[in-house]
Amino acid sequence: MDYYPIFLKLVGKHCLVVGGGEVASRKIATLIEAGAIVTVVAPSITAEIVSWLEAGSIFVHRPDEYHVSDLDQQLLVVAATDSTEVNRQVFEDAEEIGVLANVVDSPELCRFILPSIVDRSPLMFAISSGGAAPVLARMARQKLETLIPFGWSDLASFAGSLRSHVKSKLDSVDSRRRFWESFFEGPIANQVMNGRSDEAAKSFHSSLDAVAARQNVLTDSAQSGEVYLVGAGPGDPELLTLKALRLMQQSDVVLYDNLVSKDILSLIRRDAERISVAKAKGRHSIAQEEINGELVRLAKEGKRVCRLKGGDPFIFGRGGEELVSLVEAEIPFQVVPGISAANGCAAYAGIPLTHRDFADSVTFVTGHRKNRSYFDLPWESLSTDRQTLVFYMGLTSAALIRDKLIGSGMLPTTPVAVVEQGTRIDQRVLVTSLQALAEEIAATGLVSPALIIVGGVVTLTESLSWFGTNLISSKDAVA
Ligand code: SAH
Repeated sequence: MDYYPIFLKLVGKHCLVVGGGEVASRKIATLIEAGAIVTVVAPSITAEIVSWLEAGSIFVHRPDEYHVSDLDQQLLVVAATDSTEVNRQVFEDAEEIGVLANVVDSPELCRFILPSIVDRSPLMFAISSGGAAPVLARMARQKLETLIPFGWSDLASFAGSLRSHVKSKLDSVDSRRRFWESFFEGPIANQVMNGRSDEAAKSFHSSLDAVAARQNVLTDSAQSGEVYLVGAGPGDPELLTLKALRLMQQSDVVLYDNLVSKDILSLIRRDAERISVAKAKGRHSIAQEEINGELVRLAKEGKRVCRLKGGDPFIFGRGGEELVSLVEAEIPFQVVPGISAANGCAAYAGIPLTHRDFADSVTFVTGHRKNRSYFDLPWESLSTDRQTLVFYMGLTSAALIRDKLIGSGMLPTTPVAVVEQGTRIDQRVLVTSLQALAEEIAATGLVSPALIIVGGVVTLTESLSWFGTNLISSKDAVA
């Protein structure tokens, strides 16, 4: 081990910074944050440092060259001047009298080094490569930033405020450990992370009392299942939200639609049970009522159930219906929005959904109704100018959509795009006219999932599509 990692309590301690430039100012900022009494020695200082002085932060500026007596009473010193001689002098003086020294960007002149940090105070992660590979350390930090939820900050404070209380209620180390484990992964912790600490505190106390009465965490966790209704986005796994990923990885069982891509399924926790509830149109599928019942049953077994849906759960996702059953069964749940197919497909096909030259509004429309003869959308208003229409599940009704729109006055030459497998590696985009829509779909062999986008904005795809966009025409028709 080249360096011994410690966390220093600097509140009320004197720390010296030699130098007043940009680099020095970053060091001063963290020292102030840690509560140190900072002295800055430098002939001149940046405007930012001046503003901290004016704001009354606890520090002193001595507008002069460094002198060895500046080290008196200091716990540590950071040298960040642009003179190598001064920096070296600071280090040597500090070594001599036993003050911890750090010279910025000179590992050989450092008694201590400053790690990269991921701050979820009171939880703090410090990362260092000991100067060997700072870029790699930075990449490690980025990974941690995405992996560790911001809510863990509140969670750690919440747990900290109740720690001694839990200790007084549960005798054995083992039962406390199990209690905390089940708490950190359960619904009350989610409440805390969602900013509802007051409610969470009430549930926490009653759960703790119940556990204390039995001194048995396992029985308690059997009552605390919950359901996460999670939007998985249109296909590209990088379009998942951080929250979706976290909940997917903490679930015991995942029920997923056929729209959820394989790449996304591979991010589910390895040992979680996976249940496909594919509801592909026209194929045999599990009835919605069965899915609702299954969610309730699994949660009642105490499981953390992830209901993973393509796109956004509240956009043509029947998310609302599933929630009703959960509410009736009094099962805690959370809903995580996802990037809907319209947003994903539009972005990856270079079609802005609104645009000052073409469209003032965008409407998401279903192209599929339980009963086709009941296709009674407000066609008149859908056919007016300066708007974008996005049809979900519209592929098989393309001819009907064409007839209804043209019949209500939309120009047959109105540009239309069909985006198949949007945001995925094999995305294809067909650009055609309303008149030719149905024939072109047949000629190119486009299949579900596909989205139909109608309106002037479609003309922009030629200029705004990027390397991932595979523009096709009926000449490329699949045989
Ligand atoms: N809740 C989903 C929509 C479910 S309805 C969402 O918010 O995106 C299913 C329809 O969504 C499909 O028939 C298709 O029209 C559209 N769709 C979903 N994913 C798609 C994708 N990757 N590319 C194109 N269309 C998609």
